[in-house]
Amino acid sequence: MTDLPTAISACTLCADRFAATATAHSPRPVVWFRPGARLLIAGQAPGMRVHKSGRPFDDPSGDRLRDWLGLSREVFYDTSRVAIVPMAFCFPGYDAKGSDLPPPPICRRTWHDQVMQALRDVPLKVVIGGYAQKYHLGTRAGVTDTVHGWRDHLPGTIPLPHPSWRNTAWLKRNPWFETDLLPDLRRRIDEVMTDG
Ligand code: SF4
Repeated sequence: MTDLPTAISACTLCADRFAATATAHSPRPVVWFRPGARLLIAGQAPGMRVHKSGRPFDDPSGDRLRDWLGLSREVFYDTSRVAIVPMAFCFPGYDAKGSDLPPPPICRRTWHDQVMQALRDVPLKVVIGGYAQKYHLGTRAGVTDTVHGWRDHLPGTIPLPHPSWRNTAWLKRNPWFETDLLPDLRRRIDEVMTDG
């Protein structure tokens, strides 16, 4: 029987959908998890750069995220400790205006419950952006309200905004994120990594 990461890596369900985007690319699932991880990073979908490298958050957003989490690249990419699971495993492509398309819902429907079952023992989840927050927290609130209410989801889950440069102004408008949330997040990550 094929294991789950191998099955997802071979998935081509969105081939026609991706071929019809402005980028006309083929599926390339970026699968980065195995059972036993101590931290789950739940995100949205790979961008073009990650599509090419095959390594999640291998871009300036990833540098900012590692800084937020207080993790070195070595630990961040150690699948025995960190699982990285976006709402779509493949780059969804750009629309005609060059904006990122949303994660195809078929990916969530096909894979996510199985992946979360495989990762059911993970002690801490970091949930990034609106699509992942809707799935993992069941919220329909906007990202700012969800992240502002981060204490509501403790101790097992902490919502974050996307670490994109596009959110630099958001960070300036919400100084509590760096003064209150991040120190607490780093302390919890230290704890789960040490306990494991
Ligand atoms: S996005 Fe998900 S469902 Fe679509 S091809 Fe990639 S792995 Fe398959």
